[in-house]
Amino acid sequence: MRAQAIWTAALLTICTGAYGQTITERNSEKAQQVIEEVLEAFGGREAMQNLSTLQIESDSTGYAVGQSRAPGPPWDKNTSVSISAIDVVNSRFSGRNIDDPDRYRFDQGQIVGEEKAWQINYRSGTATPVAEPNFNQQSGPFVRITSTLLAHQLMQRSHTATYLGETVYKEKPHDVLSFVMEVGPAISLYVDKDTHLISKSERVLPNFGLVEYEFRDYRTVKGIKANHSYTFYFQGSPNDVRQHRKIVVNQPIDDLMSLPKGIKKQKPPAPNELASKKIADGVYLIGGQGTYALFVEMDDHVIAVGGTGGSEERIEMLRKSIPDKPIKFGIFTHHHSDHVLAAPSYVEAGATLVAHSSHEQVIRTAAGDETDVKMNTLSGARTFSDGKREILIVDLGPTEHAEHILAAYLPKERVLFSADHFGLPASGPVAPGNTVTREFADAIEREKLDVKTLLSAHSPKPATMKHLRKALSSKPKFRNSF
Ligand SMILES: [Zn+2]
Ligand SMILES: [Zn+2]
Repeated sequence: MRAQAIWTAALLTICTGAYGQTITERNSEKAQQVIEEVLEAFGGREAMQNLSTLQIESDSTGYAVGQSRAPGPPWDKNTSVSISAIDVVNSRFSGRNIDDPDRYRFDQGQIVGEEKAWQINYRSGTATPVAEPNFNQQSGPFVRITSTLLAHQLMQRSHTATYLGETVYKEKPHDVLSFVMEVGPAISLYVDKDTHLISKSERVLPNFGLVEYEFRDYRTVKGIKANHSYTFYFQGSPNDVRQHRKIVVNQPIDDLMSLPKGIKKQKPPAPNELASKKIADGVYLIGGQGTYALFVEMDDHVIAVGGTGGSEERIEMLRKSIPDKPIKFGIFTHHHSDHVLAAPSYVEAGATLVAHSSHEQVIRTAAGDETDVKMNTLSGARTFSDGKREILIVDLGPTEHAEHILAAYLPKERVLFSADHFGLPASGPVAPGNTVTREFADAIEREKLDVKTLLSAHSPKPATMKHLRKALSSKPKFRNSF
């Protein structure tokens, strides 16, 4: 919000003193003048108009903010390689992100062609059609981290531009412009008053806060300026730092637009709307859109396990099966930012929050109240029982994913609910396992859990131990060559 406040004030100062022209006219003239300077600096309007394709290969260092093994900083660092290509004339885009070869936990991409779009999992060797392909939506993240493409967008969408004023950034005077892309909130661009290149962009995302992109190391490629490194800041701290190892301008990108040989095309995924799946008597997996929680009926209450977002709707759906028993406990698997979002709605439902002791602070903060929240912490195993049904909460950690990771095991039903270590994809075959899959299987053995059904916080499909063994024995289909 900080940035927005500054720019409202800046806009007011340039508005005063408008004379003979409306404020809008004056502002628009200044915006168009800065846009012309930007286009000139990036190689000239003609060169920008002739830009057809751009391909970038980069080394990325990501900081796992709120997603590290420990609950606080310093954050874990992850390295990966990304290859992106865009064809701005024919609205085609291809992107791939490949994990460090030593770990190779993910290798994913997407291709948005003129007619069809695919989501590709190179490790699994599968391609799933995208239900509603949208070039602007899917290429947006690449455009926003690429100064040349931002300048190109600015040229095409200059009618949406507003001049916000002047500021000093990194000790150099800058003009600040805002404009709106086809999708997403307005972007502010910081244009160096000396070089007229874009030093930085920023956006304020609803429910997320300020994100900033810093562009550095400009060089000329085929007459067009391109930044060769950048840093993405989330709420003021570095989140992703990239060095571009290769930038190719106006070359055919057709080889990146076709599915690699040997890839298995999958059926489109079934619509993944909010649903309740009965796992056993009084045991429900409720969720949709990639996140799920477990609800277990006890004698006079319900126990909820899993803290992903969307819990309000899930609780509402639970009421169709169990209309009146209160939720007494809301159990959190771990501290990662996407697994603590349910805290306010569990508190609202009157539940006591249950978490590993090392995750207490993160979960209290997520609940929005640091003191009044009812909370039980544990540092070993704990059993919840009503005399008939038992839920055993065990720590499967440490793993490469988290130092502590709680899972819920129902001994009578032989059901295990866990997060972020193993689950079936919404469509397609079980993915080849990685280090955390092995650690997960070892922890099940170590804790002597006699599991029949494996439920995941990110999968709508119950899995079996056979699926887990299949994951462990299968090898990635496309080994990365970076
Ligand atoms: Zn996690
Ligand atoms: Zn997760």
